[in-house]
Amino acid sequence: MSDVVLRDQFGRGIEYLRISVTDRCNFRCLYCMPLEGLEWLPKRDILSYEEITEVVRQLAPLGLRRLRITGGEPTIRPELPALVRQLRAVDGIQDIALSTNGVKLPALAAPLREAGLDRVNLSADSLRDDRIVAIARRNLGLSPVQAAQAAEDAGLGPIKINVVVMRGINDDEVADFARLAMDHPWHVRFIELMPVGEMRDLTWEHVVPSDEILQRVSALGVLTSDAGPKGNGPAQYYRIGGSPGTIGVITPMTHTYCGSCNRVRLTADGRLRTCLYGDHEVNLRDPLRSGEALEPLFRKALAEKPKEHNLLQMQVGGLRALSQVGG
Ligand code: SAM
Ligand code: SF4
Repeated sequence: MSDVVLRDQFGRGIEYLRISVTDRCNFRCLYCMPLEGLEWLPKRDILSYEEITEVVRQLAPLGLRRLRITGGEPTIRPELPALVRQLRAVDGIQDIALSTNGVKLPALAAPLREAGLDRVNLSADSLRDDRIVAIARRNLGLSPVQAAQAAEDAGLGPIKINVVVMRGINDDEVADFARLAMDHPWHVRFIELMPVGEMRDLTWEHVVPSDEILQRVSALGVLTSDAGPKGNGPAQYYRIGGSPGTIGVITPMTHTYCGSCNRVRLTADGRLRTCLYGDHEVNLRDPLRSGEALEPLFRKALAEKPKEHNLLQMQVGGLRALSQVGG
């Protein structure tokens, strides 16, 4: 298999595509989506599974190796295992992961694994029932531990649990989450809140910097730096003693990792976005539907991939929600 052949204007090799399969969600997380929902995309604008697979088929010979299926909440799109099966059959694709809130994992983990899914990232912002409902603003009755266990039982691993830490809302649970990595082979990653987009009440005051998060975790034992699980992303990892799992921090606010960014994203309606937090995008859907080759468009998009995001310079509320661009 050839090496990465796609490089952006700063020489970063691009081998990772995040694929949003829907803009909809069965949660309304405080930090992500307004309670009333968004202006949902019309169904006709959303790429079919065949169209998504065709994008991947055209990009794989250029060096695309790893895929993440995301949303909105990807598991609410019907027949998700059918997409995984199609993507798995594309030559060159080495790794397929799923980002999910986990609610549908008890039913879907085994069929997804059987279709060829490698692993899951599970979002979980509280271990307390009442707080889960207060943050997700939906009561779907499943604990994060049950969701992670369903993924583990189906053989989906490594299991990463993503916790968005919010001061005054769930930051008192940092140690409880860290203990999960001491008791299970799970990788608990604390994400700095990005106070962007549609949420009305969260502000920069709710951001807990990663140094403070790690300080709280270190109350449980000495942290040693660790390579972390496979499926490299932007997290820095640590292990507490001989724990089976690790603790990670993802620091979009305090330490940007744009210099090593190897990823781009495909929105549910077929726009290729070269930065999660910017407006640079190329419409792939119309050319795809009219049978045009995508390679020149992809190269054009990469030539314009920004050097770094500018979250820190932007005003709160001035950005589009992550869910709109397809988290
Ligand atoms: N619905 C799936 C889920 O929740 O995992 C996939 C989409 S979600 C937008 C992807 C990830 O983005 C989740 O881990 C979520 O916690 C994170 N996220 C969303 N909004 C965020 C924000 N404002 N700050 C930090 N992380 C955020
Ligand atoms: Fe839905 Fe995920 Fe956004 Fe929560 S973070 S509202 S689960 S898309």
